[in-house]
Amino acid sequence: MIYLDYAATTPVDARVLDAMLPYFRENYGNPSSVHRLGQKAETAVDSAREKVAAVLHCRADEIIFTSCGSESDNLALRGAAMARRNVSGEKWILTSKNEHHAVSKTAQQLEKEYGFLLEWLGLDEHGGVTIDSLNKAVCNNTALASVMYANNEIGTINPIADLAAIAKANNILFHTDAVQAAAYLDVNVEKLGVDLMSLGGHKFYGPKGVGALYVRKGTMLLPHMTGGGQEFGLRAGTQNVPYIVGFAEALHLAAEERESRTAHVRPLRDHIIGNVLETIPDSKLTGHPENRLPNHASFVFKDVDGNLLLQMLDSAGFACSSGSACKTGNPEPSEVITSLGYSRDWALGSLRITLGMDSTVEHVDSFLKALPTLVEKARKLHN
Ligand SMILES: *Cc1c(COP(=O)(O)O)cnc(C)c1O
Repeated sequence: MIYLDYAATTPVDARVLDAMLPYFRENYGNPSSVHRLGQKAETAVDSAREKVAAVLHCRADEIIFTSCGSESDNLALRGAAMARRNVSGEKWILTSKNEHHAVSKTAQQLEKEYGFLLEWLGLDEHGGVTIDSLNKAVCNNTALASVMYANNEIGTINPIADLAAIAKANNILFHTDAVQAAAYLDVNVEKLGVDLMSLGGHKFYGPKGVGALYVRKGTMLLPHMTGGGQEFGLRAGTQNVPYIVGFAEALHLAAEERESRTAHVRPLRDHIIGNVLETIPDSKLTGHPENRLPNHASFVFKDVDGNLLLQMLDSAGFACSSGSACKTGNPEPSEVITSLGYSRDWALGSLRITLGMDSTVEHVDSFLKALPTLVEKARKLHN
C-alpha cells in the first residue's frame, strides 16, 4: 500500500514513540499525586508544556492539553463564546463554511441550542476567507471569529495575521484551527496575533487522541469539561502523560525539521499537480495554486464518482482521500468543494493526495502512472 493521505493522519514518528514509552509502565504516576511517582509525571507534563510553548513563542501556562484537535476547537468556541456573553453580552460568532466540522458544527450548535448568532464569512474562489468579509462582518456585538490556518480538504492557507489584526482592532477574540497547518507552517502566536489556536498531535507524526489549545493570557474561557483543577482549571481530567509527552516531542520535531520536510514534499507535490493537470482531461486543481500547504494536492474530475475512484485507487494499492476522512461514503459533495462554486458533475469527483515524510519519487511515479486509467474507468462507469 502506498500511503498518500497524510492530511487524514500520520504514522507516529519512531523518536516520538521512544519518548512516550517510559510513561506507560515505568513512570505511570498521576501528575496530581504528591509522591515522587506523581512528581515525575508532573515534571514530564511541565516540560512537554514548555516544549510546546517554545515552538509557539508563548508562555507555558498558555498551553492547555486536550484529547484531540476537535476538543481544542470545541473548548475554544464554546469556552470563549460563553465567557464573552457572560461578561459583556456579545452574541455573534463569525466563522466560515470551509472550517473543519469541529468548528462549523460547534458554531451551528451554539446558534441553534444556546442562543448565539452565527454569520458565515465570505470565501474567495480558492476557498480562502477574505479580509474584506471579516471587516464587513464585525460589529460591536461580536464575541469571536474563528478561521482555520490552512484547509484540510483543499490546502488553501488563510491570511491569519491580517485577519487577527482586524479582530484585535475591533476588540473581538480570534481563534484559528491550526490542526492541519502545524505540520508545515510557522505556528508562532506572536507573529500570528491570535488569541486561541488549536493543535492536534496525529497530523504531525504524534499520537492520535491528544491535542492542545493555546489560550492567550487574559482570555476568558468557560471550561467545558468540569471536575479536577487540571490544566489551570480549564480542562478537567487526569492528564494523558505519555500522549502529552509524544505530542510535545512531535511538535518540537516538526518545528525543527520544518524546512527539510517542506523541501522533501514540495517538489513531489508540484510534480503531481503538473502531471495530473497535463495528462488527465477535464481535471482542475482545487484550492489556491500557490498559497497552499506544501504537501497538499487536490483536484476535481468532471463526471467521476469520487468515492468510486477512491475504491479503485485502494484496490490498485493507493490510499488517498476525497476531502476530509469523515466524508467517505457520503454521495454529497463536501461543503468545501461546493463553496468553490463547481457544478455537481465536477464537485462529486474530488480527490486529495497528501504527502509526508515517507513519500518517495517512486510512490509518486507509480501513482501518476496508475491514475489516468483509473479516472478513465471511473468516467465510463459514471456515464
Ligand atoms: C484533523 C483535523 C481536526 C480534528 O482533529 P482530531 O485530532 O482528529 O480531532 C480539526 N481541524 C482540522 C483542520 C483537521 O485537519
